[in-house]
Amino acid sequence: MATSDASGSNFIERVIAEDLAGGRFGNRVVTRFPPEPNGYLHIGHAKSICLNFGLAAEHAGGRCHLRFDDTNPAKETVEYVDSIMADVRWLGFDWADRLYYASDYFEQLYQFALHLIAQGKAYVCNLSADQVKSYRGTLTECGKNSPCRENSMAENLDLFQRMRAGEFADGSYVLRAKIDMTSPNLNMRDPVLYRIRRESHHRTGDTWCIYPMYDYTHPISDALEGITHSICTLEFEDHRPFYDWVLDNLPVPCHPQQIEFARLNLSYTVMSKRKLLELVDKAHVRGWDDPRLPTIAGLRRRGFTPEAIRNFAELIGVAKRESTVDMALLEYCLREDLNKRAKRVMAVLRPLKVVISNYPENQVEELDAENNPEDPGMGTRKLPFSREIWIEQDDFREDPPKKFFRLSPGKEIRLKHAYYIRCDEVVKDAKGGIIELRCSYDPESRGGWSKDGRKVLGTSHWVSAAHAVDAEVRLYDKLLSVANPAEEKEARDFKEYLNPNSLEILKGCKVEPGLAAAKPGELFQFLRQGYFCLDSDSTPEQLVFNRSVTLRDSWVKIEKTQQDK
Ligand code: ATP
Ligand code: MG
Repeated sequence: MATSDASGSNFIERVIAEDLAGGRFGNRVVTRFPPEPNGYLHIGHAKSICLNFGLAAEHAGGRCHLRFDDTNPAKETVEYVDSIMADVRWLGFDWADRLYYASDYFEQLYQFALHLIAQGKAYVCNLSADQVKSYRGTLTECGKNSPCRENSMAENLDLFQRMRAGEFADGSYVLRAKIDMTSPNLNMRDPVLYRIRRESHHRTGDTWCIYPMYDYTHPISDALEGITHSICTLEFEDHRPFYDWVLDNLPVPCHPQQIEFARLNLSYTVMSKRKLLELVDKAHVRGWDDPRLPTIAGLRRRGFTPEAIRNFAELIGVAKRESTVDMALLEYCLREDLNKRAKRVMAVLRPLKVVISNYPENQVEELDAENNPEDPGMGTRKLPFSREIWIEQDDFREDPPKKFFRLSPGKEIRLKHAYYIRCDEVVKDAKGGIIELRCSYDPESRGGWSKDGRKVLGTSHWVSAAHAVDAEVRLYDKLLSVANPAEEKEARDFKEYLNPNSLEILKGCKVEPGLAAAKPGELFQFLRQGYFCLDSDSTPEQLVFNRSVTLRDSWVKIEKTQQDK
């Protein structure tokens, strides 16, 4: 996990501190978050956002730019641009007036390409994409020079200008850097700088039919914006020599330092935008904000808070070595946050009717219930109690196993905030299915305590049947049924590992009446069930809640170990 030294700083912070101490870059720290708008952001991006904006915030006058790396119009859309801005803001970060688009540099990038050609450092090549690939060689074999490599500068200038003017078909020519086809680093074997692509761009329209490659665009964008530290993921380590080559060979205003760190991998889910897009496009999920996805939009809809995600990013830290973080850690961060702030309420997910025979018909009492034992400042509310209530089916067993501390025939439990009840009778239908329980209550135990101090088995949540509001509740489980498809013995498509039970929809759940006024996104702890939030699909007629995360359920564990014996 995190590699931090005694002062608690990570290796990137140490590099920056050394640079500042040595007077490099003046006294400035300027970072950037550079997403390509070809999908929604995911939790891995959140790590990068927290890191880049965090580093800028740690230094007086530090800044972090939001820059869209929009050089591949075929896959990029305004919808993605908008969603990315919304997600970064929601995470709690502010780029102020530092919003940039690589596409704003298209003219400058083109001029720099002319400069490289004029310096004899770039040439137009007519090899097809496949030929470029086969001429490149391999890790063990040198590459071969392109037949175009020694063309004259005048010829290259002419061809490149005509590429821009739209005289050639897509794919007929590319502009390449002239570096070294024998370099041990494949990225230095005359990489492609420009390609012809007739594709409308979401910002520049049809102005361009040639588009610069990411590896060429990125260092120049960084330099033009005065970035000091260009932080990216480990797979770009081998690209750094080219990053530096571009900047060393152009009259750019500065030369940022590229620093690589290990990307975040999470168990039981997928993170690449390509795979996420596939799940959305093929309707394996309900959209980019499906609460099962690790997208920021999905996590938000599921009930995650920016605080929980930022804390998660802090806990995992940054390292130089790849690792996989357990999903449980992300869930832990959410529980920690919601424990402090979520209002406790009662909701019965799988209802079982209880009739309290000795409770007066038509009587309704208003009982006091605390909203959060962790925070008395959150106050109390009134809960209606009456003769018929709902309890959880799981809270009753006709044949209780050992250590079942809930309701069973002849046994007594406490109803949270209410009374003790004892089960007197189990009413069944013709097939033996349980329809309802007949119980009696102890009027002396109001508030859930008895003067004689007798012990009851356990405490159940409940909702008054006459006052309950119906709700749909969506329970989510892991997206994949294996921690990491790549580690499975058989190499199968990741979609074959989708967990068929990742979504369970419960209808006819009974929630306490106050929840009718909940607002989308509002978070609650359903006592003993977990944390839930109101989904945006919710209407006043049909409440819909998402389970954000479970509470740890000790009973499941006990039952399991009993079965195992
Ligand atoms: P993906 O592979 O998921 O499509 P990407 O790297 O292509 O992601 P970009 O939009 O290019 O997505 O990423 C923007 C920034 O976020 C980059 O600096 C990238 O390094 C960083 N980033 C992307 N994925 C992760 C991750 N899993 N962990 C940490 N940082 C990430
Ligand atoms: Mg990318």
